[in-house]
Amino acid sequence: LGALSVDTRQNQKQFTQADIGPLSTLADYAAIAIYNARLFAAVQVALITDGLTGLYNRRHLMALAEQEYQRARRFGRPLSALMIDLDHFKVVNDTYGHATGDQVLSEIARRLKSGVRTIDILGRYGGEEFVLFLPETALPGAGLLGNRLRQGMASTPVLSIAGALTITMSIGVATTSPDLPDVATLVARADAALYAAKQAGRNRLAAYGLPIN
Ligand code: GH3
Ligand code: MG
Ligand code: MG
Repeated sequence: LGALSVDTRQNQKQFTQADIGPLSTLADYAAIAIYNARLFAAVQVALITDGLTGLYNRRHLMALAEQEYQRARRFGRPLSALMIDLDHFKVVNDTYGHATGDQVLSEIARRLKSGVRTIDILGRYGGEEFVLFLPETALPGAGLLGNRLRQGMASTPVLSIAGALTITMSIGVATTSPDLPDVATLVARADAALYAAKQAGRNRLAAYGLPIN
């Protein structure tokens, strides 16, 4: 766990075997403290993280989104939400097995994460659903980003233990508006738009309240 370094200001003082006992006791207590601090830090991370993808779990994602929503409302700034769902993902599991499915999910999470800004809030919302909150971003910007992520996914196969797999995703987008009562409704609207994107044939992006083009 660590090392204890002991020094003295007394000239000529030499540590002897007799010092080892008390120093060992001190080291034991320090070790317990270090161990507990590390454990606490690890538990803190585990509480907010999804184990498979390393993204925020749903609870923490929504807690961060609530803060961001309050800020956006207070300052009259836009906040957009993207609901992302992989297309026909069940087929990946059924064809290549769950281990491959899991690997693909975690690779996709990594890709999504690297495709957004650090201030953007990305989490695993459900099985193969991700939600991305974009502070300071209105519908046009959110749509552009969503389509960039979507096209990147469709054009670059995911390397997995079962080989290179082409995965597509459908995205629903919604943005804050004066009539929005809360952040849960923002997510519900993105979800409604996602449903429209699926209905329209998948591998596309739909914005809440707008026709799909
Ligand atoms: P759709 O295009 O309509 O979205 O079709 P879909 O098959 O993707 O359907 P849905 O979005 O309902 O996807 C649910 C499937 O995602 C079920 C399950 O096979 C897979 N899935 C969900 N969570 C996990 C997971 O943690 N690991 C793996 N391997 N698969 C998962
Ligand atoms: Mg799906
Ligand atoms: Mg799904």
